[in-house]
Amino acid sequence: MRTSLHGSNCGDSCCLRVENLSVQIGNDVILKDASLHVHCGEMVALIGPNGAGKSTFLKAVLGQQEHGGIIVFSAPGQRGKKPKIGYVPQSPQFDPGDPVTVADLFVCCMSKRPAFLGASKAMKQKILECLDRVHGVDLIDKRVGALSGGELQRVLLALALEPIPNILILDEPLSGVDVEGMSTLMDMLDEIRNTYDLSILMTTHDFSMLEKYADQVALINRGITALGTPEQVLSSPAFEQAFSRKGGAL
Ligand code: ADP
Ligand code: MG
Repeated sequence: MRTSLHGSNCGDSCCLRVENLSVQIGNDVILKDASLHVHCGEMVALIGPNGAGKSTFLKAVLGQQEHGGIIVFSAPGQRGKKPKIGYVPQSPQFDPGDPVTVADLFVCCMSKRPAFLGASKAMKQKILECLDRVHGVDLIDKRVGALSGGELQRVLLALALEPIPNILILDEPLSGVDVEGMSTLMDMLDEIRNTYDLSILMTTHDFSMLEKYADQVALINRGITALGTPEQVLSSPAFEQAFSRKGGAL
């Protein structure tokens, strides 16, 4: 059983509170009355069949999706301050022949300087600092299109960690990553969670990781149909129904 740094009660340790989140697109009800509390320092996994509303849930939390209900962030000792959110989108596709390097990507995201001028000395130092957080300094001159799935996720993670957020949100970080890379990435996320004392909210299709890494799991199927520890959710009737041939597929 994992232990949470800040306990699992609400009050001051609740980093993200989602109450009765509802999303309707056209006539389609994508999410209805979804409520979830992410406590500070916790790793929370959202699982569910394709089209269940996982990415929509994250987009609503990120303020990119119109929604009903309440979404409140707070961070201990930072009452009244806007919490910082880091976001790693579902793996973007890069052309394998594209000459853009990891350093170019950082320059585009972190400075107004045109990428073709290259990184200044100070900028290069900053990029190395960022990459060091994901043990990726050796990736700085690699072409983005030539990175493996796991390397690309580490680069995107390094971008999301600057500045260090209060909550890190990742959409399917394990897709496109090989089995060995999955454990490496999950170990890294766990290390980052501990080092920087941040909360992580991520979607995944990989249930084998849940027991070791997730404090809470929410099963989404157009609403939250099961919520609890990995063991509780994976053995719930709602899980059985969602992933049976009749109820849905991975
Ligand atoms: P998941 O991430 O669980 O696979 P999504 O949240 O991406 O699911 O999508 C949930 C449902 O919402 C799907 O049926 C999808 O087609 C629909 N949907 C998502 N975004 C839009 C949109 N912008 N317009 C219309 N339908 C959408
Ligand atoms: Mg999705």
